[in-house]
Amino acid sequence: MSEGGRYVDWNVEQVTGHFKVDPAEGLDDAEAGRRMEQTGPNQLAEAERISPVVLLLNQFKDFMVLVLLAATLVSGLLGEYTDAIAIIAIVVLNAVLGFVQEVRAEKSLSALRELSAPTARVMRNGEWSRIQAAHLVPGDIVALESGDRIPADLRLIQTANMYIEESALTGESVPTSKTNGKLSRGDVPLGDRKNMAFLGTMVVRGTGIGVVVHTGMETEMGRIAHLIQTTEAMQTPLQRRLEQLGKILIGVALLLTAVVVVTGILHGHDAYKMFLSGVSLAVAAIPEGLPAIVTIALALGVQRMIKRRAIVRKLPSVETLGCASIICSDKTGTLTQNKMTVTHLWCDRRKIELSGSGYQPDGDFYRDGREVRPDKEVALKRLLEVAVLCNNARLIGESSREGLLRRKQETWRVDGDPTEGALLVAGAKGGVGGESLLQSWTRIREFPFDSERKMMSVFLEDRGGKRFLFTKGGPDVLLERCTHILQGGRAVPLKESHRTEIIQMNEELAKMALRNLAFAYREWQGATPDNERTAERKLVFVGLAGMIDPPREEVKEAIRTCRRAGIRTVMITGDHQMTAVAIARQLGILQGGATVNGSEIQQMGEAEFRKKAKDIHVYARVSPEHKLKIVKALQEEGHVVAMTGDGVNDAPAIKAADIGIAMGVTGTDVSKEASSLVLADDNFATIVAAIEEGRNIYDNIRKFISYLLASNVGEILVMFLAMLAGLPLPLVPIQILWVNLVTDGLPAMALGVDPAEEDTMNRDPRNSRENIFAGGVGWKILSRGLFIGLSTLVAFWIAYSESPDDLVRAQTIAFATLVMAQLIYVFDCRSSRTVFHRSPFSNPLLVLAVVSSAALMIGVMYYPPLQPIFHTTSLALREWALVAVAAAIPTLAAGALDMMLPLRRMVTRTER
Ligand code: ATP
Repeated sequence: MSEGGRYVDWNVEQVTGHFKVDPAEGLDDAEAGRRMEQTGPNQLAEAERISPVVLLLNQFKDFMVLVLLAATLVSGLLGEYTDAIAIIAIVVLNAVLGFVQEVRAEKSLSALRELSAPTARVMRNGEWSRIQAAHLVPGDIVALESGDRIPADLRLIQTANMYIEESALTGESVPTSKTNGKLSRGDVPLGDRKNMAFLGTMVVRGTGIGVVVHTGMETEMGRIAHLIQTTEAMQTPLQRRLEQLGKILIGVALLLTAVVVVTGILHGHDAYKMFLSGVSLAVAAIPEGLPAIVTIALALGVQRMIKRRAIVRKLPSVETLGCASIICSDKTGTLTQNKMTVTHLWCDRRKIELSGSGYQPDGDFYRDGREVRPDKEVALKRLLEVAVLCNNARLIGESSREGLLRRKQETWRVDGDPTEGALLVAGAKGGVGGESLLQSWTRIREFPFDSERKMMSVFLEDRGGKRFLFTKGGPDVLLERCTHILQGGRAVPLKESHRTEIIQMNEELAKMALRNLAFAYREWQGATPDNERTAERKLVFVGLAGMIDPPREEVKEAIRTCRRAGIRTVMITGDHQMTAVAIARQLGILQGGATVNGSEIQQMGEAEFRKKAKDIHVYARVSPEHKLKIVKALQEEGHVVAMTGDGVNDAPAIKAADIGIAMGVTGTDVSKEASSLVLADDNFATIVAAIEEGRNIYDNIRKFISYLLASNVGEILVMFLAMLAGLPLPLVPIQILWVNLVTDGLPAMALGVDPAEEDTMNRDPRNSRENIFAGGVGWKILSRGLFIGLSTLVAFWIAYSESPDDLVRAQTIAFATLVMAQLIYVFDCRSSRTVFHRSPFSNPLLVLAVVSSAALMIGVMYYPPLQPIFHTTSLALREWALVAVAAAIPTLAAGALDMMLPLRRMVTRTER
């Protein structure tokens, strides 16, 4: 028998006694701290991370860098010490920069992982609270509900209709029913330990409470997984494509470099010098820094998203976000505030209004303008009793002293489901609730709410030993289970006219955008049934409650933004069609679109549904299974779909969606695990913010790709053309390496954090199959690269023809022109249109990067000790004028050309 089998044949008292814990109080923090010292955190051991030393050494693994180092070593041995040392210094600096970038990227990624770390609801110091699962210790009392991932090995001490899916551990995918009773034997296999819940498995139905018996590596999961690699490789499609592109670029760069070297040698250049130049050129032209900068741009973007309360779980979704063309959003809590207040009741065939707002339990009941007292009305009292007892929420009052006179203020909050909280408040307003009510009833068992059934029931016993089933749920579904109605103080048979009346009232309330629940009961004789199907029948209908759940303020604007950005918003809700339509109208979602409910979807064939789906703006009374159908239909119509969800049953749809979105506050672990994005505030507006950031991140990646590649094209071209023209080398190796390190590196990083363009959310979503070079990027790289190369060459040629003996001067001019041309061009990269479209000062980091790059260049040109190392000399004003003109031409001329030439449009089109 394994150690874990030990607790199964103990009864609950033995287990809690063994762990010295009172289930009603839990451990206190001091005791939990002591136990944590003994057991360590509740975590499985992770595989070791790559050590920083290896990461640093990896920077030198690049083949061309090794060749360069070898070549430099040779030149050192030949006596060219300054060159050798300078080149080595630059290569080392480059490696350190690459290393820092990678460490930063890894740090931000692990910070992201931390954010999505699992939590658990635990009883500590007599209060339920949510803590990081890693902080659990043996003896902790943990509450579980449907959708939870089990945070440690637990012996269950309370269960309600609880089923756990244990395939992660046993391979068995059919969920196991769980109990809290002791088993007759302890030595049973894992799958039969019915009163245990194991780390890593998942609650698919029901609720329960358990005592932690093992944590971390001591758990059953820990035993089988001595090493669990939790770090997934998270590469985005763009990163993969860039890797492939990188390989092609290496080939092209090497080929061109070889041509440069050979042509140079044929033109009588010194073979060794040509070789060193060639290798430097290859090192410079190969965009080896690209993947790291992409990762940083992604990671920094993701951090900006976190600030806007969107947590990215899967990096690739950052890219997909920018392509989203439809957002399918839940209503309750995402589009609305999830702050419910019951405003209307209907019972005994009459309507009652309720005053008061929020969770403050002050308010009165009015019928036709006259106050009514619940204790005088049988049906109203029963309705409130069902509402309060068939309920798992808690209303908590906190008093504080406020104001000058330090008057006592009571603030109220709800622990649990807001819908149920609102019912507690309504009960309290009518004097139904509190300890006295709870003490007069004993709860025997519960059939928890699930969004498929849209109902919840509890079995209760009153003081006199009479047993009752109290049920609440969606009015339409509950009505189908009723045979009687409470009228005039007693249960009378439910006639068709009653049904019509109830349905009409339900619709009347729904049209007022109220969320409705119905209440029913049944007096029970005989044995209590053990499943909800046999229990929830032949009920006595009591009445309805309608609650307001106001739309979130910011959502209306977010939906308008979506419309401008070519993204359609679709509401998907379990609520009544009329409630959904009323809220959709208030939010501006409907806009002429169609509305459909769950049963209509059920009846439609796949093809018919697909045809209709594109015009449907509101889905009402749907079950989670319909969500999957909706996602698939929209995807087949070519949409990139973002879909929200919170329950266990939402997971398949979340997984199938292009962007699966889970709720950070109300979402289950299972939905979060299936998602690629978690909303920290459950708010629809956060999705829109994430999409905006997603679009911006992709734009920024395109920006520095156009910068880096055009610069590289320019660098290769100037050398290549010079060799073809039989000119001397326009740039020496150290200058090329310098350009690669300083001029390319700093501004490219600043482009990675460029603020969004104003029109980011005014254009249609990007086509997900679009090439990175589409939309003018390819054209920009080629045209600007060509101009930078030509311009540098011409400047070099002018200087060289003026004084052929002063090669250093001509080379300095070429160097300065190349650097300056790139530093001007970087501003051109910031807009998909021309350089004139954005103020150069709107990205201060870029200005800083450009100014520092320029200053460093002036430093190596004017600081005498550096001049021999960089083969530079100080320039006269007249020469600077040449540099300035030559450097400005590529951007200005190409910009002007862009406006005139239809060629660009042609190139753009063929790239798509
Ligand atoms: P959305 O899908 O937009 O979040 P929703 O919260 O109404 O909408 P569900 O939570 O699946 O979706 O609820 C569906 C229906 O079930 C509700 O309209 C209501 O009639 C009923 N319902 C909701 N909560 C409870 C509950 N705690 N007990 C009983 N019935 C409930």
